[in-house]
This record gives sequence, C-alpha cells and structure tokens, in this order.
Amino acid sequence: MSVRFDNNIVVRIQQATDIVEVVSEHLSLDRKGKEFVGLCPFHADHKPSMYVNPAKQIFKCFACGAGGDVFKFIQLREGLTFPQAIERLAERAGIQLPQRSRPRQAEAGGSDPAQIARANAWAQKFWQKQLFDEQTGADARKYVASRQISADTAGEWGIGFAAESWDNLLKAARAKGIADRLLIDSGLAVLREQGGLYDKFRNRLMFPIFDVTGRVIAFGGRTLADDPAE
Ligand SMILES: [Zn+2]
Repeated sequence: MSVRFDNNIVVRIQQATDIVEVVSEHLSLDRKGKEFVGLCPFHADHKPSMYVNPAKQIFKCFACGAGGDVFKFIQLREGLTFPQAIERLAERAGIQLPQRSRPRQAEAGGSDPAQIARANAWAQKFWQKQLFDEQTGADARKYVASRQISADTAGEWGIGFAAESWDNLLKAARAKGIADRLLIDSGLAVLREQGGLYDKFRNRLMFPIFDVTGRVIAFGGRTLADDPAE
C-alpha cells in the first residue's frame, strides 16, 4: 500500500484535538469519574451509553459497540472517509496539510485505511463464523481446545478459522461486493503473476490484531498442519 499520509501530520492533528471537545460539538456530555458520558448518536439511545475517555482519547458505546478515536468519531458522525476526517480535523485545529501529504481519495492501487479496516473487520467475522461452523470448524475447534483455550476465550479474542481452500474467503468477499483491489491492499488475498487471486490464509487459526481503538489492523495466522517450521 502506498503511503499517502505523513504520519507526523496525523499525530499532530490528534495532539491538537481533544476528543471530548469534538464529541461535545455533537452531543452533550456529562462527567462521570474519569470519563464523560452522553446519549450515543449512532443508535436510538435512551440512557447514556456513549463513554468518552479523555486520557485514552477514545469513545465507546456500550450499547451498539460504536467506538474508536476522534477520526473514527468524525467519520461515523459525518459519513466521511478516513482522509476526509483528517482534512476536517486538520482544518478545525488550524493545521495546514502540506500539498504532498494532502490525503486523496483512493486512487488506482491504493485503498484508504478506513476501507482496509472495514475489510479486515469483515474478514475477522467471516473467519470467526467458520470456526464455529459445525462442519468447517470442527478440526480447528479441536485444536483450540487442545491448547486449553475455551470457546468463550476464543470468542472473546475474536479467533477465527481460515479453511483449507484457495478461494473460500475470496468467494464470500466477492458475494459481499468487496473489491478485489481492496482484498489485495488489505493483505487478505494474493495476486497471481498470471492474474487472478487466491486466499492468502489457508488452514489457519486466525488471530486478529487490534489497535488501541479496537480496529482490526492485521492478522496472525497459525497453521493447523503439523509443520514444526511454523
Ligand atoms: Zn450506540
């Protein structure tokens, strides 16, 4: 994936922005201990379920599960892409985006980080379903159990199973309308030299790797084959 953001700029914007202030512009917040609470704008909320944590600079709704950093909040609230949210908050903080690092919409060969995060989140759920599928996931569940990991823990960690197949995820992703380009950019599928894609992860237990805001940023895959090298 080509880098289209100067990471320093993103960090500067984040440092110049207080999530409590930004969220307060959209709903009223009350202090509750070290956090702030308010009515969640992302579902029909009747008692305050939205928590904003100033120390961690994140928000989380305990009813509908919406959560993330200040960029995520603006994205969800205003229906923006990640690059657009960066522009919006840079403007708000009075930070000039250099022409070079001005975020652009996905161009040929580059999916934006928000799209990638959504593709990863979808893949995590897909693999998780496979793990708990009676037939498909049977061996994988046995393996999990043999490692003293309970089904509850596996669920909590978001562990999934990528079946022994070249196009299991691919087919499901296409049926869901997820673009091939995005699957490649997300590292979920691999492009063959002679064209065509195949699933990158096969016969593997999949461990999602989350960032501090709860976004799935990558996966660790552990093969189920008895291969001591892995
Ligand atoms: Zn909510």
